[in-house]
Amino acid sequence: MDARKVLIIEDEKAISDIVKFNLTKEGFTADTVFDGKEGLDRALSTDPDLVLLDVMLPSMDGFEVCRRLREKSNVPIIMLTAKEEEVDKVLGLELGADDYITKPFGLRELIARIKANIRRAQPPQAPEQSSSGGVQDFGSLAIDMDRYEVRKNGTPLELTLREFELLKYLAEREDKVFSREQLLEDVWGYEYYGDIRTVDVTVRRLREKLEDDPGNPKYIMTKRGVGYFFRRS
Ligand code: CA
Repeated sequence: MDARKVLIIEDEKAISDIVKFNLTKEGFTADTVFDGKEGLDRALSTDPDLVLLDVMLPSMDGFEVCRRLREKSNVPIIMLTAKEEEVDKVLGLELGADDYITKPFGLRELIARIKANIRRAQPPQAPEQSSSGGVQDFGSLAIDMDRYEVRKNGTPLELTLREFELLKYLAEREDKVFSREQLLEDVWGYEYYGDIRTVDVTVRRLREKLEDDPGNPKYIMTKRGVGYFFRRS
């Protein structure tokens, strides 16, 4: 297997260098860009396996890079937020980032997050011979578990990987209610340092793509005070 490519878009050279050094040591290929606009171009032209994206960047900030990149690509994006700014985290996730990490960060944690996000983005090597494979119908929704595609009444929906994973998880366990903590653990799939609002933000984005009326959902339902569940419609 070729080395996984990580694109680091970060204007602080000291951070960029040490991250690149450690990724290389872990067997990744790392490319660095110090400017937002150039970073966006590089992400689109080189098709990396993951983008590590700083928020404060020259020429175009990380949120704008994220938004524009998401219009054309489902590459996993981890945002680097400068401080404990809740608004930064939530905004990044709303714009389609998969994860965020707050500076200053530990390198071990960062590498673990990068690996987890890349692993999550790779479809399984061999299709699993289980009932969860193939296309499954959930009323008006058809979820292709192998090809990571969702169709609603035959029309494909453009979901990010995380949105797909969350929908798949809930749909496969129809009508069962899950707490946000449980969803973070099972869908995000590793020891997640973020907060449970990550789940709410992803549910909201999913509803906007899935539901005829996101304010009155028919698929992803809220169980007040408990969490979320899927209902076929
Ligand atoms: Ca910066």
